[in-house]
Amino acid sequence: MEKVVETLCTPITHECDVLVVGGGVAGIAAALAAARQDTKVILLEKQFMLGGLATAGLVTIYLPLCDGKGHQVSFGIAEELLRLSIKYGYEDRYPTAWLENGSMEERAKKRFEVRYNAQLFAIAAEQLLLKEGVTILYGTSACSVAMASDKISAVIVENKSGRTAIKTKSVVDATGDADICVMAGEKTALFGPGNILAAWHYYETGNGYDLSMLGYAEVPQEDRTEETKPLISRRFQGVDGQELSEMMQLSHKRVLEEIVKKQQENPAYMPVTIATIPQIRMTRRIVGGYTMETSDDRKEFEDSIGMIGNWKKRGPVYEVPFHALYGSRVKNLITAGRSISASDAMWDVTRVIPVCAVTGEAAGVAAAMTDDFESLSVAKLQKKLADNGLKLFYHEL
Ligand SMILES: Cc1cc2nc3c(=O)[nH]c(=O)nc-3n(C[C@H](O)[C@H](O)[C@H](O)COP(=O)(O)OP(=O)(O)OC[C@H]3O[C@@H](n4cnc5c(N)ncnc54)[C@H](O)[C@@H]3O)c2cc1C
Repeated sequence: MEKVVETLCTPITHECDVLVVGGGVAGIAAALAAARQDTKVILLEKQFMLGGLATAGLVTIYLPLCDGKGHQVSFGIAEELLRLSIKYGYEDRYPTAWLENGSMEERAKKRFEVRYNAQLFAIAAEQLLLKEGVTILYGTSACSVAMASDKISAVIVENKSGRTAIKTKSVVDATGDADICVMAGEKTALFGPGNILAAWHYYETGNGYDLSMLGYAEVPQEDRTEETKPLISRRFQGVDGQELSEMMQLSHKRVLEEIVKKQQENPAYMPVTIATIPQIRMTRRIVGGYTMETSDDRKEFEDSIGMIGNWKKRGPVYEVPFHALYGSRVKNLITAGRSISASDAMWDVTRVIPVCAVTGEAAGVAAAMTDDFESLSVAKLQKKLADNGLKLFYHEL
C-alpha cells in the first residue's frame, strides 16, 4: 500500500486520571464508577449523544438482571442504569414484579428487563454523568495513542478543534470494538462467524409507534427461508470503514423494503427513526488473561467482579473474572462492554447491556485505583465493588 509521511507535534489540551473512550453503556458505567472514586474523569464519544448501540443504535431492550428463576444476579450500576433508563417513562416490558415488590413466583415468571425510550435514556445518562463531575467530550474520536514503555501516556483525539492529545494515568477502552487495544498493541481477536445484517427501526402505524427488530441475533437453521436469506447471505466483521459503510447502506435498503411492504397493508405505516450508527454485535475483543466460556455457568472465580445471567436461557449464572478485562501487554489499559474476553459462543451472552454495565463499573473503579491492572489488589477492588452494592459470587445469592 502506498503511504504518506505526516510530521505531527500534538498539543496536550487535557489531563485526567481516567480516560474512558466510548460513551455506550459500558463507557457510561465506567465513567460514573471512576468519578465516584473521586478521580478526574474524561469521557470521549465520537457521536453527539451517549448510549452507543443502546440509544443511537436503537437497541432499547435492557436485557435481564436476573437468572430467569427469580434471583437478581447483576447489581450496582447495572441496576441503577436500568432504573435510570425508565425514570421519565418506559416503552414496554415494565418489570412490575421486580420494581414493585413482587413475589419470588412472579419474578421467576417475568424477567428483570425493560424496554426504554432511547432519547430519554441518553439525556438522563448525560445529566447523571455531569452531576458526578465527568467531563464529556462529544464529537471527539480517539485516533491514536502515545506510549511510554508499556503504558499509554496520552490518547490522541480529533474533533472540531483539530488534533490534540489528552494525558491520562489509565484508559478504559469502551469503544465496543477494542479499538484502543489495537492502537496500543494489546492482543485482540476477531469474532469468527461475522455478524448478520440488522435493520432495527421505529415505525408509526397511525395508532402509535413501535420497534421493528428486523435482523435477529442469528437465524436458526429451521427458520432459513427465502425471506430470511438476504439477512444471512453476507456476514460483517465490523472493523473496516468501507465494510461498515456498505453494511449501513444495506441496512437502510432493508428498512425501506420493509416500509414499502407494510404500506401495502397500511398506508399510514412510516419509519420514525433509523439507527445512526451501525447495528453490529460482535466485532473485535481483547485477549484477556481469561476468556469466558458458556461452560463457565456457576464456575467460581477468585477475582470475580460481578455476576451476569444469560438472556437466552433461564438458569445459568456466570461470575465475571477480572482478568477477562485486561491483557498482558499494556499495563494501564482495561476494556469493558462487548469487547471483553469471551469465546465466540459466550460473546452472545457477554455483549448485552447489563453485562456492559457490570464490566463498565468494575473497569471504572479499577482504573480509578491503579495505572497497572495486573498488580492491582483484587481484594481491594472487590471490597469497593461490594461497598457499591454488588454481589460478586454465586454463593451470595
Ligand atoms: C441489532 C442488535 C440488537 C441487540 N439487541 C440487544 C437487546 O435487545 N438487548 C441488549 O441488552 N443488548 C442488545 N444488543 C447488544 C447491545 O446493544 C450492545 O452490545 C451494547 O449496547 C454495547 O455497549 P458498549 O458500550 O460495549 O458498546 P457500544 O454501544 O458500541 O458503544 C461504544 C461507543 O463508543 C463510541 N466510540 C467508538 N470508537 C470511538 C472512538 N475511537 N472515539 C470515541 N468514541 C468512540 C461509539 O460511538 C459508541 O457510542 C444488540 C446489539 C445489536 C447490534
